[in-house]
Amino acid sequence: MSWISDLARPDIVALKAYEHAKWDPALERLHANELPWRSIGDDSAAGLNRYPEPQPRQLLDCLASLYAMPREYVLVGRGSDEPIDLLVRAFCRAGQDSVVICPPTFGMYSVAAAIQGAGVIPVPLRGAQDFELDEKAVLEQCGANVKLVFLCSPNNPTGNLLDPEAILRLAAAVRERAIVAVDEAYIEFSGAPSLSRHIERLPNLAILRTLSKAYALAGARCGALLAHPEIIALLRKVIPPYAIAELSMEAVLKVLEPGSLEVSQARLQTLRAERARLEYALRRIPGVERLWNSRSNFVLVRFKDAATALARTRDARLLIRDVRGYPGLEGCLRITVGTPDQNTRLLEALA
Ligand code: PMP
Repeated sequence: MSWISDLARPDIVALKAYEHAKWDPALERLHANELPWRSIGDDSAAGLNRYPEPQPRQLLDCLASLYAMPREYVLVGRGSDEPIDLLVRAFCRAGQDSVVICPPTFGMYSVAAAIQGAGVIPVPLRGAQDFELDEKAVLEQCGANVKLVFLCSPNNPTGNLLDPEAILRLAAAVRERAIVAVDEAYIEFSGAPSLSRHIERLPNLAILRTLSKAYALAGARCGALLAHPEIIALLRKVIPPYAIAELSMEAVLKVLEPGSLEVSQARLQTLRAERARLEYALRRIPGVERLWNSRSNFVLVRFKDAATALARTRDARLLIRDVRGYPGLEGCLRITVGTPDQNTRLLEALA
């Protein structure tokens, strides 16, 4: 038994996975209790009367190529929210194990932990140092029952990239003791390389990726976990057998065709230019007290009067995120970079 099986919940390691209907496209399907006819208006490629392929091979191959990882290192899920949940469910025993999170950060790590009955140990980012990872403090908190450390880089809602060297040192230090899950939902906006290339050397490193952000597919619900094949195999026992809807898969495959990928790349350029324009202009608005440099597709801004800023943007029919309730983010609002026109309207509303 490997250290991954030792780390995971024993009942999940022992679990016999659900046996889904055999996938053999060469044969006609009379084995899955489906209706033999398509529904009205079903113009999908495969037919929605059929269950989709579990962990579809074509989609896995596309994601493997997109993320430059072998296919057996990839798990596809409904957004990256699903792999976050799967990790907690597979590794944390309710009432016994915990996850470490670094607030202010994305809320789903602690929600997934709470649903599973796992503890949450917060180790705040260093607010005075622009939300840097407190590597030493995280390490100190990684006791025997900490199974997962969730790090978000670039971090939501602060927008900064965490020091990759610190993350790698941390993963090496807790090797065989905990999984370090790095959420790279916004990595495409940062220009920085993914840490997934270090998984081979550090098999306790797990990387969360999503098509919801840079690939404009939030509505398709498609994300991926890149991790050691044993972790992937374990989570495949936990994920529902037909998690990826056929229509979502078809939408994703279209976006991952070479021509569409070029469009996504061009949009990334536009988005980065708009982010720079927003940052420049926001810094010159008198009501703005502080703005943090963003490596993401949003900016975090501290306003002298956040309530008025919220009201003004709402009057301009623009919704921005109130993050004043996060620890250390008093007076802060998070603004997603929009189209050039939306950004101009936002700046006018705040000026
Ligand atoms: N991680 C981070 C840091 C996010 O901000 C979000 C969504 N806001 C997600 C994961 C989840 O996104 P999705 O499930 O659409 O991939």
